[in-house]
Amino acid sequence: MWLANQQTPDFRTINRFRVQQMETCLQAVFEDFIAQILEQGYISGSDYYLDGTKIEADANRYTFVWKKATQRYQAALQEKVRTVFKEINDQIKLDHQEIQKFIQNTKKAASAQEVEDWTKGIEEQAGERLKKPARRSPDRTLRKQVKALKNDFIPRAKKYEKQMETFGERNSYSKTDTDATFMRMKEDHMKNGQLKPGYNVQMGTENQMILFYTLHQNPTDTRTLIPHLKQLAHSPIAHPEHVIADAGYGSEANYLYLMEEHYQGLIPYNQLRQEEQRRFKKDLSKIQNWEYHELEDVFICPNHRKVVFKKYMTRTDHYGYKRDFKIYECEDCTDCPFKSKCTKAKGNRQVHYNPVYEETKAKARRALNLEEGRARYRRRKLENEPVFGNLKQNMHFRRFHLRGLKKVHVEFGLLALAHNLMKKVKMDFQQ
Ligand code: SF4
Repeated sequence: MWLANQQTPDFRTINRFRVQQMETCLQAVFEDFIAQILEQGYISGSDYYLDGTKIEADANRYTFVWKKATQRYQAALQEKVRTVFKEINDQIKLDHQEIQKFIQNTKKAASAQEVEDWTKGIEEQAGERLKKPARRSPDRTLRKQVKALKNDFIPRAKKYEKQMETFGERNSYSKTDTDATFMRMKEDHMKNGQLKPGYNVQMGTENQMILFYTLHQNPTDTRTLIPHLKQLAHSPIAHPEHVIADAGYGSEANYLYLMEEHYQGLIPYNQLRQEEQRRFKKDLSKIQNWEYHELEDVFICPNHRKVVFKKYMTRTDHYGYKRDFKIYECEDCTDCPFKSKCTKAKGNRQVHYNPVYEETKAKARRALNLEEGRARYRRRKLENEPVFGNLKQNMHFRRFHLRGLKKVHVEFGLLALAHNLMKKVKMDFQQ
């Protein structure tokens, strides 16, 4: 109001400015601010504390669409369409090759467009027979079938195809904000673990300043590290020396990416704490406690038998990431006194060993065990959590007010900028 000479702009004007104007300039303003605080020494730019939080979308909590349900409906619809085409084919011989393939099941699925084109072809072929057939004439059934295809099956097939397109790699979305995905939130006031539509906000901080942020549609932190760092490369904090994050980010793909891009990662993996416990170290079934002879490439099990290399195996996970395993098998497990503790298998014990992952895990362990690494990792708790606390508790930001990934990105950018400005003022005041 001061800038506008005490005029009171309409709320629509403010909103239009927030949605349309800010979209083009906010990123630049934010990056400019970060470049300035970097220059003035508020941050060093070498330590990057990465963590994520889920923020609820401005969408109705009960407007979910699930991928599995859509796939099920789509498959059921394909069968119905196939049956109708079979029945029509019995009445009028359909000469289209693709339809014949579909009827005989050699073509597994037909797209909505194909069904629409085929229906038009049937209408042309049937011609006069579809126009007002007599009461008991078999053409009445034919007319009904064509009508069902046109009014029910084709629109439904189009709807399911559109839904599948909206899902992308996600398993769900909300009808009110189609960019929002259903996720498990920490704030669960109903205490029933209900999934809510939201966005996964990933941010890097240093000295409790938000250095960079990205918004993701998938709820798992593991899969956000690589896209986040790729986008970070275009910001003023292009390449921090250390990336510090919790065990939720400790995967083979992430470790390899950090190594390739020359980041010093301080990221534990899920079993690290467990492996350090005395109970784990005494557990005879764990191969980490077995002897390994590199020359022979064999493990020696607690019963002093050789567990020898058998073959290589590649596994592709749910997201298409390929991991190579070496499969080892014990020479002979018969009459072994440790068998019940060692394996549940009826035959010999098998070991699935992933050498790349084990090596990256060992590297992560070494980095975290160094005094310098420990000190940095300890600071993690003082970095991200207070920022989330400030945004959610003090600034009361628990839910987005705009819809769509682009708009939500702007909204969070404004919030992050406000947080950083307040933090800077506080630091100046303390000095
Ligand atoms: S079950 Fe087989 S692999 Fe396990 S300790 Fe006994 S002999 Fe060794």
